[in-house]
Amino acid sequence: MNKKLVINSAWCKGCGICAAFCPKGALEVVKEKVRRKEGTDCILCGNCELRCPDYAIFVEEKEDGDA
Ligand code: SF4
Ligand code: SF4
Repeated sequence: MNKKLVINSAWCKGCGICAAFCPKGALEVVKEKVRRKEGTDCILCGNCELRCPDYAIFVEEKEDGDA
């Protein structure tokens, strides 16, 4: 199973809740949009997905071999 973090910027309002609850400090809000912070590790824990009120960030799971 492959996992990756996906940010849907169109739905993000830049509230920063996900960044506040990220245990790795791996997110930052720039110009009212959240993004991955350089030099940090995302451990794909899903905390940001749980906390975002706008479904704008999530951990995507893919079966191995899927495109
Ligand atoms: S999945 Fe976890 S580690 Fe990765 S950005 Fe979200 S809260 Fe942070
Ligand atoms: S919690 Fe959701 S809306 Fe708020 S900054 Fe994070 S991704 Fe954007």
